[in-house]
Formats: sequence, structure tokens, C-alpha cells
Amino acid sequence: MTPLRPLPPATQMSASSRLAPDRLLELDRAHVWHPYGAMPAAVPPFAVESARGVRLRMSQPVEGRDELIDGMSSWWAAIHGYGHPVLDEAVRDQLGRMSHVMFGGLTHEPAVRLAARLVEITPEPLQHVFLADSGSVAVEVAAKMCLQYWRSVGRPAKQRLLTWRGGYHGDTFHPMSVCDPEGGMHQLWSGVLPRQIFADAPPAPGPVRSSGANGFDAPVDPGYAAHLDELIGRHADETAAVIVEPVVQGAGGMRFHSPALLRELRRLCDRHGVLLVFDEIATGFGRTGALFAADHAGVSPDVMCVGKALTGGYLTLAATLCTGAVAAGISGGEVPVLAHGPTFMGNPLACAVANASIELLLSQDWASNVKRIEAGLRAGLAPAAALPGVRDVRVLGAIGVVQLDHEVDVAAATRAAARAGVWLRPFRDLVYTMPPYVTGDDDLAAVCAGVAAAAGKG
Ligand SMILES: *Cc1c(COP(=O)(O)O)cnc(C)c1O
Repeated sequence: MTPLRPLPPATQMSASSRLAPDRLLELDRAHVWHPYGAMPAAVPPFAVESARGVRLRMSQPVEGRDELIDGMSSWWAAIHGYGHPVLDEAVRDQLGRMSHVMFGGLTHEPAVRLAARLVEITPEPLQHVFLADSGSVAVEVAAKMCLQYWRSVGRPAKQRLLTWRGGYHGDTFHPMSVCDPEGGMHQLWSGVLPRQIFADAPPAPGPVRSSGANGFDAPVDPGYAAHLDELIGRHADETAAVIVEPVVQGAGGMRFHSPALLRELRRLCDRHGVLLVFDEIATGFGRTGALFAADHAGVSPDVMCVGKALTGGYLTLAATLCTGAVAAGISGGEVPVLAHGPTFMGNPLACAVANASIELLLSQDWASNVKRIEAGLRAGLAPAAALPGVRDVRVLGAIGVVQLDHEVDVAAATRAAARAGVWLRPFRDLVYTMPPYVTGDDDLAAVCAGVAAAAGKG
């Protein structure tokens, strides 16, 4: 590696001066960790100069493209695209009042409004909102709520979590402990992670190369229901909660299952005296075709996490909601407080843009729009089923997945998509897209072509 040229002294680096693209990538390589990355990164990232609508403007051409159509919504978050005037204005307006104040002992309208709105739009029994600064923290808080609830009501042995395989709940330690044990680095962290209880992955039957919502429409397999019943029952005395991603398992494998399974889980949790947590961090805010995936099932969890699209992709923010019963249990215990309080809890800028994003979503016919995208993905991705090396094509809501029969070559697949003018970030055996809801039909067709190009190269 060539030694770095020193940075220009601070006096020559005004905040507004721009790094030349090559210099930027050189410094990136020297100093910056990227998600799931090595140091230095095996494959350099593409530098983005700005983003507007559904387009990322690159700092320098990538595969001959100055711009790429975003097929990722920046990991489920940017549902309204980039630089949306309503969201920009909400941030500017809040910036004029205050960007932040501490939340201990103080409160403010953006946070209060957001909490009240979340209670309104989520399943009815959820009444109380803990604002967290990322999805992983929201899952930590959910776990803490559940464990503390049982401790408070005199059942301190109920400390473990139960989930099904194939899940993803974040990268801090407790969330990691309920990620899929095969894909979730459990090998590396055995002996460190709390040992949780794993059911088999929800069955995802249906024809291979279905181009349908594989698994979503499947009836509950009685054998699988019995397996859940047996496992939850056997471990009920030591289990605080069952935690799952409802309907869509995201980063654990992009698999869909039937909402009927959630009704089954609700029934079993009630029968065995275990709390139920839905992690809606990826599925929330319309992505699966329902405002929350729980709505497909008409089921309410005891605790629910939201994040990702909460701020329309503008700022990091997540929330953990719980029922009155969970809150009352905790608040009536020997330590009658929830001992958690991030420094940036309830950040006003993030709350303000979250409020604007939710209003923007609900002020439109978002459900028809997501249906439009679903139809576009179904039509656009169907031809990919005929590609060599493709095992399955599945679509649900504004999520399109092409599963290969081999590990994807991420660098080659990403470049193939870029050549087609599209930004994608495949992983494992999956080339997938969850485009911003503002993606027009032509851009959507381009995204599908990009997925096919990536799947063909990956
Ligand atoms: C992304 C994700 C998380 C973690 O959120 P971060 O903001 O990345 O910490 C947790 N659960 C699910 C289902 C997710 O998709």
C-alpha cells in the first residue's frame, strides 16, 4: 500500500472545500470501516456526490455512469427517495428551533407528536414508546423490557429469548444472539452471546421459480405449528419472549412466510405465558403492502420495534413500543424504571423528519402505490427465473428477490448492475431490491433489468 500523503492543514480545508474523488477514496481506504468490512476494504466503495429523487450522483463515473438509480432505498429507509422537498423543509424548520436537547427531564413537540402518532398507527394495545437511536438499540430495549417485565412480576428465571432460524435483528450483542445461528456469526461469538432458543425456520414452500410471494400464501403447516408449540411450551419457564420479524425475514435471507403463522405465535405465546415481540424495523411503513406486517395477520405483539424507514432515511432513529400491561409490569417492580437512556434519545431533528415522513406517507394512497411497485417487480423480475443459476424469484409488496443457487460474486454483480445504471447491494445468494416508493414505472423496469444483470453476473 502506498503511504498516504498528509492531509492539507486544517486552515486549507474549509468545511466547504471538496476532496478530489481519488483522494477521497484513498482516505476512505486508509481510515474508514464500512459495514461488514475488512481494513482496508477488499473492494473499494463507490463514492456518492449527492442524491435526488431515486438517483445517486456519483463522485466519478462508475462503469461509465454518472448516476445510478437506487434499488436499495439505502437499506429499506429512503421510502420517499432523496432530497424530498417536504422532508428537507421539516429538517430546516426544526433546525431553526433546535437540533437537539437532552431528553432526561426535558421534552419537546417533535418527540411527543411522534410517539402519539406511532401509537395511533400501530396495533391498538401498543401504548408506550421508547425512542432509540438505531434499530439494534431498539431491539436491545425490547429485550430489556421483556426480561425486566418478568423480573418485576416475580418470574426472574424467564431470561431467554426464543426465535426461529433465518432471522436478523441487528449487530449489537443481544440482537446478534437472536440472528440466524448459521449466518449470524454465532460461531465466532460462541461463549460470548447469550444462548437463545431456536425453532426451525418458518417453512417457505411453494414452487421454485414461482415469481410469486413464495411462502406468504402458504397455509400453516400443522407439523411446524406443533414444533413451535412443543418448543415454546418446553422452555416457557425460562423464556421471556418470542421475537420474530413478521412476514419477511430480511437480512437473514429475504424469505417470506404466511401471516397465519403470526396468529399461531400469538396464540402459543398467550397459552404458554410468553411475551411476543415483532421486529418491524425492515417491514414497517408499507414495505410489505400493509402499513405494518402485523396488519396482514390482524395480530398485535406485546412489544414492537420500528426503525429504518421511520425518518424516510434522513436520520438515524428507531422506536420500541409496548403495551400498557408490559409498562405497568416494569413500573410496578422492585426497580420501577426502565434503565435505558441514550444521549441522543428523542433527537428533535430526527423526530421532526419522522413526523413529516409519516404524514407524507399517509397523505397519499401509499397502498395502491406499493401494489403498483409489486406488479412492476413481478413483471420485471419474472424473466430472471429463466436465467442459469437462478433458484427462485419472489416478490412481496415493494420487495423483489432473486435467489441464486450459489454465493453471489458481490463485486461482479454490483458492477453489472451499475453498467445497467442501477445501484444494488447483493449478499450471500441473493440479488434483491426494495426501491423507494417514488420510483416511476420506467425506473422500476430499469431496476429489474439491473437485478437480472447482477443475477446473470453474480
Ligand atoms: C436493520 C435491522 C435491524 C438493525 O437496525 P440498525 O438500525 O441497523 O441497528 C434490526 N432488525 C431488523 C429486522 C432489521 O432489518
